Amino acid sequence: MSYVGPDFDPPQPRRSRRGPLTVALAALVPTALVGWLVYTAVGDSGDGGGGADKAAPAPTSHSTSAPPSAAPSSASPSDDGKKPSPSPTVSTSRPAASGPLKGKVVVIDPGHNAGNFQHAADINRKVNIGTNWKECDTTGTSTNAGYTEAQFTLDVARRLRTILQEQGATVKFTQDGDRPWGPCVDERARIGNNAHADAVVSIHADGSAAGNHGFHVILPASVHAGAADTRPIVAPSRDLGERIAGNFVRDTGSAPSNYIGDGTGLVVRRDLGGLNLSTVPKVFIECGNMRDSKDAALLTSGAWRQKAAHGISEGIVSFLHG
Ligand code: ZN
Repeated sequence: MSYVGPDFDPPQPRRSRRGPLTVALAALVPTALVGWLVYTAVGDSGDGGGGADKAAPAPTSHSTSAPPSAAPSSASPSDDGKKPSPSPTVSTSRPAASGPLKGKVVVIDPGHNAGNFQHAADINRKVNIGTNWKECDTTGTSTNAGYTEAQFTLDVARRLRTILQEQGATVKFTQDGDRPWGPCVDERARIGNNAHADAVVSIHADGSAAGNHGFHVILPASVHAGAADTRPIVAPSRDLGERIAGNFVRDTGSAPSNYIGDGTGLVVRRDLGGLNLSTVPKVFIECGNMRDSKDAALLTSGAWRQKAAHGISEGIVSFLHG
């Protein structure tokens, strides 16, 4: 947390404003936990979220995980953060002949930008997010060994794009390592809006205290202030988020966060410009805590990132097919 500005203000797992949420969260719990229990029953890695017996977060292969479909593993594995994914892939759509996602537009938002570290003045500029003004963007966090969140998000995003394109989707990025910094959070939202995206996923990893581990999906609160009006997207975004959470549990074996979301893996926030300004279904996913050694071991593993991308893709596919 002492790092340069974690993504956002640390959210409080407060209970006060969770009235209508509780029911919906309760509805999710079985889904997420079922996926998790299935994993623990089938999986053999011991990374089950029980806490005590998690000797090694070895992402061992098991039958429920994504088969390492040839393309992604050879196309964009920049393991261990040595270098950004080399794949000079097309930054937008590829005409996919067919597939279950044909005709669907998915915008992927790789959180932060590796260049943000060198553009403090630019990213610190305030932009209006409806409810208030906030920094254009932040640097993001990193593991203690220096693997940055920006590297992580772009790598997962590229893997995710490959999977979605193989299924026929039109995929657009908010940034593809092709600009010196940013974009700002308001522009990130605008890109999804202008694309008339059927779904938008913003990819992140958290910078919380060591010992805090697991993933969580962030859903937009109902916000109606200034340029922000999330009311039409609250329900579909929740649906998208729940499906991503359930599939992420199943494919990665990671447990929902043990420090936020009360074990559901879901958190609702009203302080994120990327959500407040969205007019299309959108969620964030914090794939793990980069400051926790066990989570960091996963986040820096190319094999695990492939599972993460697969889990997210399955959630998107499920959402788009209702
Ligand atoms: Zn982030």
